[in-house]
Amino acid sequence: MNSCRGARTAVIVGAGVAGLTAALVLARKGWRVEIAEAGPEQATSGWGLCLTGPALRALDELGLADRCLAEGYGMTAITHVDRNGESAGHVQLPRLIGAERPAMVGMARPVLHRILRETAERSGVVVHYGMTVTGVDQEEELVRARLSDGTVRQVALLVGADGIRSSVRGLLGLETSLDYHGQMVWRALVPRPLWATGVHQFAGEVNTAGLVPLSGSQAYVFLTENGVGRSGLPDTELAPRLREFLEVFPGRVEEIRPLVSASESVVRRPVQTALLAGAWNRGNGVVIGDAAHAPAPQMASGAALAIEDGLVLAHELECHESVGAGLRSFVGRRAQRCRRLVQTSVEIAGLEQAQRHHEAYPLVDACHRQMAEPA
Ligand SMILES: Cc1cc2nc3c(=O)[nH]c(=O)nc-3n(C[C@H](O)[C@H](O)[C@H](O)COP(=O)(O)OP(=O)(O)OC[C@H]3O[C@@H](n4cnc5c(N)ncnc54)[C@H](O)[C@@H]3O)c2cc1C
Repeated sequence: MNSCRGARTAVIVGAGVAGLTAALVLARKGWRVEIAEAGPEQATSGWGLCLTGPALRALDELGLADRCLAEGYGMTAITHVDRNGESAGHVQLPRLIGAERPAMVGMARPVLHRILRETAERSGVVVHYGMTVTGVDQEEELVRARLSDGTVRQVALLVGADGIRSSVRGLLGLETSLDYHGQMVWRALVPRPLWATGVHQFAGEVNTAGLVPLSGSQAYVFLTENGVGRSGLPDTELAPRLREFLEVFPGRVEEIRPLVSASESVVRRPVQTALLAGAWNRGNGVVIGDAAHAPAPQMASGAALAIEDGLVLAHELECHESVGAGLRSFVGRRAQRCRRLVQTSVEIAGLEQAQRHHEAYPLVDACHRQMAEPA
């Protein structure tokens, strides 16, 4: 029998947060792990992430929280500002890694990826860039994965960690839809204003804006553009359009606007969600992270779920004799928590579109408290 405790070999598709975390934990537990990543090395675009308490707790379990806090910016509160520029309250997030340490950390996405990748490679993980999986066959307890360089791997476990548009999901015969929610989300890297020591969120007449520190010197500005169809814009129009959107906001946003004009790193993405309703696994293949459950960015928790998935997957495989049993137990442990988060994020996106911010704030608060429960 090819049990978890037998031939412990895995191919993971995607070197994002979920894939790198799963790879490094499996490698630490003695698995031989290869990652096939479609993109080139260091291709991750420059915008940042806010990692909430559950992400920090999971990183702490990996021994990486202090390094992330040192290279990012530790924070504890979200300040909500109403459309007149007046404070609408502060939300103190639960400090899940101890009263003396911050509740969350803002960090540049490439920095988080570098930390995870270096740690995974030190544990023996091999990452192949510019590579994907083109076919999957399952035979009893083995998965045969065909790679895009023409080679084949016969492994005990195949993990699709290839994001919201996962192709592994289709190769395993798992179906889900991508839902667009009438919002485009903007991000711009800017110098950190000295007053920005936590997350700030500004309600506007139509759109919502905000600021998240990423380090002592850097922050990102975000804006959610409401009630808009999916559309593209030429890169040259991004910074001027974002500045235009910010013009209607009073108060501190007036200080942020000139920083955006100078930003060379502005991105605009659709708010999309995906959620696998049934199983996430077929035989010894499984999907994790955004490939299984992609929330709207409003809860800033997609990366937390992705990191937790990696940890829980490796733990469940360790506790079961066969990969199949480990995967079923993994999905059983994760499905409800991830579904709840995706559904709440969609609800919050809807309230934001309807300008019902006061109903959204307590929902965000309650969801962060639920997420504080163990993964
Ligand atoms: C605008 C925006 C802002 C966000 N802000 C936050 C935030 O502040 N905090 C937070 O926690 N979450 C945030 N999220 C969500 C978060 O980014 C995701 O939940 C998280 O990145 C999911 O990690 P993942 O590894 O599952 O997928 P991804 O990060 O998408 O990684 C997938 C990887 O797979 C690779 N890949 C894709 N297809 C293939 C293929 N066929 N073969 C091989 N490789 C492939 C990709 O190149 C990529 O490296 C945000 C999302 C968006 C869109």
